Amino acid sequence: MQELKSIKGTHDILNSGIAKWQKVEKVLQKVFASFCYQEIRTPVFENTALFARGVGEFSDIVSKEMYTFSDKGGESLTLRPELTASVARAYIQHHFWQDAPVHKLWYLGALFRQERPQAGRQRQFHQYGVEVIGSALPEADAEVIALACSIYRELGLRNYVLHINSIGSTDTRKRYTEILKKTLEPHKNSLCETCNTRFEGNILRLFDCKNPGCAEILKNYAPSILDHLSSEDAEHFTRVRELLDVMAIPYEVNPALVRGLDYYTRTTFEIKGTALGAQDALCGGGRYDKLLMELGGPETPAVGFAAGMERLILAMEAEGLFTEEEAGMDLYLAPMDSHALNTAMPIAQTLRDAGISVYVDLLGRSLKAMLREANRKKAKHTAVIGDDEIKNRRLQLKSMFNNTVSELPFEDLADALKHKK
Ligand code: AMP
Repeated sequence: MQELKSIKGTHDILNSGIAKWQKVEKVLQKVFASFCYQEIRTPVFENTALFARGVGEFSDIVSKEMYTFSDKGGESLTLRPELTASVARAYIQHHFWQDAPVHKLWYLGALFRQERPQAGRQRQFHQYGVEVIGSALPEADAEVIALACSIYRELGLRNYVLHINSIGSTDTRKRYTEILKKTLEPHKNSLCETCNTRFEGNILRLFDCKNPGCAEILKNYAPSILDHLSSEDAEHFTRVRELLDVMAIPYEVNPALVRGLDYYTRTTFEIKGTALGAQDALCGGGRYDKLLMELGGPETPAVGFAAGMERLILAMEAEGLFTEEEAGMDLYLAPMDSHALNTAMPIAQTLRDAGISVYVDLLGRSLKAMLREANRKKAKHTAVIGDDEIKNRRLQLKSMFNNTVSELPFEDLADALKHKK
């Protein structure tokens, strides 16, 4: 029979991988809670139209990376390739604006994009992110950027750089796009084929091109969008920078940072890992004041970011931020035979109810094998239950840290273990 394997570009997360994910998830929850953001969970598939409208038809995501299929009713559905559009859809569908003028939301979930898999690029990957919906103020942009950086700081990550830019309001972009087209027209033939297709569709995407020839042309001839901001756009950007400065958050202004998605306005930002390879973008975000209206909701300003979990874990591994496996369970309980299990299982239950983690052998192994296993699992304590223990209702609790043994009545076990936690 043909061996069944996971799909190319998808990965199982196993053993020590789980410990890494849980460590990161714990910090995420802590930081989101400290900023008073609320979690939101949306379905993994949506109507294809949501992403076509919400992400932009000229984006790589929509034009070539989506997992789209028809269900039995003939409806076109898509596995979510990003989460902002889904969150915006939920905001509109549930009339969030009716119970508060601003919503601060966070998410963590699996996304699907049919890209060429490589280190740091998968077909199923995970992003965490936030969306602040309802505030047009630069203070919201600054808070979102500060939150993104707090997560890396809390995790101890050092090798990353924050890039920020403003791509102005829709009018500014329209004006700038015309100027850019005129300036680059004489060099069009020297641009790569992809840039030539993007020239008419979404010329700002030229800044995303990795081709050195194209990058050189842009560097030499493209005007900076920052020189073409309206006075309101410029004021907004200055205020964002001012707030980052007072919060002592270092950044680089990068006028070439335009981001590939159509719905961004004004602030854009990206955090790049400096110890990662080609796929070095850890986090990307910005303001998207037009998205909610484009999806049929009320005109509502919003700002957010999305960050990759797998790349964060790769960056943390590169900096040696995952220590050796933590200690295992509080107690490894070793019953001598099936009769002893009649006593061991209720004891284990009482201890678990008291918040103590207990591992009970379920293989009927020999004492020697059980104690070897307790060692391998890094149990903090072990206790054997046999005929004598059952008769006296006492057992010997052995600490694996310092090899001490204390004899205790069954009913004192919970207190003793709690004390040692
Ligand atoms: P994007 O939604 O494309 O702006 O991506 C935001 C973040 O998600 C990136 O900075 C990466 O950390 C992560 N990311 C995007 N695409 C992938 C992928 N195919 N595999 C792994 N991580 C990804």
